Amino acid sequence: ENTDLSTASGPHEGEGGEEVATKPVVAVVGRPNVGKSSLVNRIIGRREAVVEDVPGVTRDRVAYDASWQGREFTLVDTGGWETSVSGLAAMVARQAEYAAQAADVILFVVDATVGVTDTDEAVIRVLRSTKRPVVLAANKVDGPLQDADALELWNLGVGEPHPVSALHGRGSGDLLDAVLAALPEEAPREEEETDEGGPRRVALIGRPNVGKSSLLNRLAGEDRVVVDSVAGTTRDAVDELIELGGQTWKFIDTAGIRRRFRALQGADYYATMRTGTALERAEVAVVLLDVSESLADQDIRVIEQVVESGRALVLAFNKWDLLDEERRYYLEKEIDRQLGRVSWAPRVNISARTGRHVEKLVPALETSLGSWDTRISTGRLNSWLKELVAATPPPVRGGRQPKILFATQADVRPPHFILFTTGFLEENYRRFIERRLREDFGFEGSPIKLSMRIRE
Ligand code: GDP
Repeated sequence: ENTDLSTASGPHEGEGGEEVATKPVVAVVGRPNVGKSSLVNRIIGRREAVVEDVPGVTRDRVAYDASWQGREFTLVDTGGWETSVSGLAAMVARQAEYAAQAADVILFVVDATVGVTDTDEAVIRVLRSTKRPVVLAANKVDGPLQDADALELWNLGVGEPHPVSALHGRGSGDLLDAVLAALPEEAPREEEETDEGGPRRVALIGRPNVGKSSLLNRLAGEDRVVVDSVAGTTRDAVDELIELGGQTWKFIDTAGIRRRFRALQGADYYATMRTGTALERAEVAVVLLDVSESLADQDIRVIEQVVESGRALVLAFNKWDLLDEERRYYLEKEIDRQLGRVSWAPRVNISARTGRHVEKLVPALETSLGSWDTRISTGRLNSWLKELVAATPPPVRGGRQPKILFATQADVRPPHFILFTTGFLEENYRRFIERRLREDFGFEGSPIKLSMRIRE
């Protein structure tokens, strides 16, 4: 009987029982001989002889008290769980399954010098089906020479491999930082601007006079409370919750939109500053453009600010009621010439004054946010990439053909892809990849980040 396990299993055990606030549980999972016990010993700071990591060896303890940066948690060594089960993969997979039930965070240890084995992949399949966060430790990276081995483990598709040497202690601080980051919040604060749940946050931006406050009034309806402040002295943001298309949206810093700066010196400066702070807090930006005038440098700068901030984007061409045939002709030309960089952004042609097509804003926001949230699995991404590279290999550079080893989507909001290569990929080729990503997977309304990790 593993009696220690029941005390370590924390808040997930005792369904019918009392709500005891126990320490979070971190379970160490991995094949025999990858160095789980050494890592556990390293983390708990125990110096005694390491028990051989061999299946069948029953250890007297499996759970230990540990702490890092003042945060306490229980560390469970799954290596001591099983006595004998036929088949290595089955055994380790079962351990992973138990661990996922018992733990808040899984610390998955892989031997970087061996690379990914079938057993590791079986474990990943089990871990994927659970909702537990996984921190990947690439063990036996005893020196910089093995760092490249660790990079290969991006291939597992469970995020960044943290190179460690359980033997020498190398990298264990960074690993524990990652474990802490994955632990559940100690005391979840209310009213926090979390990424999950809650109304989605929209910034209405654009140069002065494009119609931001008119659109806001139109969206908020006539009965809105006028939010105002004392002659531009207060810089506090005031947000407004507005119901549109059956859901609630949070419009960021509406006080800033309604505050009048245009008579002041330096109005542009304040407008740019407001745009920056609004973007920081928003998830999606609606950039308003005034179709009755030529696109201005300032319009382009605002759009660039959005792309650089990594927020989702909707372009709203306002004052459509003022458009005549001639102006329309030139507008199309301006769009082609100046907005090519954001040809992926959905466009709505609206009039804040008459209300024309204002209702099209919500579907456009949803499209952009949907793309912004999109995650492509590592498997799908790599089979797509393989085909792409076979058909159009990266151009030879300095007599060498860079190879793309694999790719992974490291993040969402916005989607961020990392290409692991054996050489530098020219900007043109990276653009080509981005274009094809968009053609094949969509991403309408979201910027895409593409980076390279070059392994010489
Ligand atoms: P802001 O500085 O971006 O907040 O712009 P405002 O909302 O204050 O609008 C600037 C001017 O454009 C005001 O005179 C508005 O009445 C006018 N305006 C805004 N939207 C429209 C529109 O759709 N059509 C027309 N014709 N005028 C508009």
